[in-house]
Amino acid sequence: MDVEEFRACAHQLIDTIADYHAGVADLPVMSQVMPGEVLKKLPAHAPVSGESFERIMDDFNSLILPGLSHWQHPGFYGYFPANAALPSILGDFLSTGLGVLGLSWQSSPALTELEEKTVDWMRELLGLSSRWSGVIQDTASTSALISLISAREKTSRYSLAAGGVQAEVAPLIVYTSAHAHSSVDKAALLAGFGKDNIRYVPTDENYSLDPAALEAAIIADKAGGFTPCAVVATVGTTTSTAIDPIKPISQITQKFGLWLHVDCAMAGSAMILPEYRWMWEGIEQADSLVINAHKWLGVAFDCSLYYVKDAQHLIRVMSTNPTYLQTSVDSEVKNLRDWGVPLGRRFRALKLWFLLRSEGVEKIQKRLRRDLDNAQWLATAIKAAPNWKLLAPVSLQTLCIRYEPAGLHAADLDAFTLAWAEKLNRSGFAYVTPATLDDRWMVRVSIGAIPTEQEHVASLWQALQQTVIS
Ligand code: PLP
Repeated sequence: MDVEEFRACAHQLIDTIADYHAGVADLPVMSQVMPGEVLKKLPAHAPVSGESFERIMDDFNSLILPGLSHWQHPGFYGYFPANAALPSILGDFLSTGLGVLGLSWQSSPALTELEEKTVDWMRELLGLSSRWSGVIQDTASTSALISLISAREKTSRYSLAAGGVQAEVAPLIVYTSAHAHSSVDKAALLAGFGKDNIRYVPTDENYSLDPAALEAAIIADKAGGFTPCAVVATVGTTTSTAIDPIKPISQITQKFGLWLHVDCAMAGSAMILPEYRWMWEGIEQADSLVINAHKWLGVAFDCSLYYVKDAQHLIRVMSTNPTYLQTSVDSEVKNLRDWGVPLGRRFRALKLWFLLRSEGVEKIQKRLRRDLDNAQWLATAIKAAPNWKLLAPVSLQTLCIRYEPAGLHAADLDAFTLAWAEKLNRSGFAYVTPATLDDRWMVRVSIGAIPTEQEHVASLWQALQQTVIS
């Protein structure tokens, strides 16, 4: 493909994407394909000779598009929203189109410096002090891994430079709650702590980590010859957006010298709303935190904002310095390869920059407040309706709900709940995520896709009521 062919195809592609966004509401939210259906239709071998853009797009439209569930659909209430606001898509195109990599500052100076600036803009918008330094990671999962490696190295006094965690006399312990995201478990395992050394601290009736139980667990471990190392707290848990109380937790981590990582993957976006900052009161006492700008905020996946207090510690743990990466300006610049795992760095800051510049913070704040209001509206409707149950506080924009029809045996409730959730998803009208809470199945409704307005939430409520009785 030469540049002129590229220009023509790219114009068509932009039209395709624009048409997709304009018409996505007419598509079934959840893909209707069966397992293996797409695979079966794809050729067994890669083409030997090149094919035209038209043929590739024809196959995209007939084979691939029907096999997608539509996250940017107004009826998407699954998982958590992963919004790709249109300006951020433009920034992402540009990043890919330029094909530049940030291996070192010198390899693309503006890539590093725009990342530095946009992440600092975000720090300010989130109300964090200038004691925090930030960087963009791919995901919250990677951020949790980096945090737990940082914690391990702090507690073990840089054991990576010698015998590693295997040379530790006493096992290092990580504390979190059973409601933490599975990425916390995964990070602890990958960082070498081992399953036996993860403590699941009990939670209260709101599914928030109980600080008194945390302190008791730390004291018991110390007495038992273990080495308490890190706490991972969550502001906005995945199942129910529960809020672990950061202030008392941070007082405990400071008292015992533990690392505190705060996973604000979802709820972090709400911290651009000053009236929600009570949710992470005490955050200034944490060591690291992550916010997924690729969730509710609107930056196209992937863009996790990872902030640390002690950047020098992070760099000491993460840095590698082979001669082929050294440059004459290294002492004057940030080399972001030393702030995380991968060497190569995409120009992710562009999509954040485009979003912030194009929309301005006020427009994003207005959208988030709309979603919060819509969640409260639905919560009020559910609380007033017979047999419907709201199972957890609606602290943000996610509801945990269940329909408990009179006369249905408790043993049959799980199967009933899973069946109606599946029926709703299969209908293509809306997409919701079933999950367990207190060992019983319920349905999560996570409001916050960009095109979801109050009228859509009102129609969802109608659809929910019809689905459970049909
Ligand atoms: N933490 C929380 C609270 C989440 O809800 C999620 C995903 O939904 C994650 C972490 C993992 O996010 P990522 O896909 O960026 O790794």
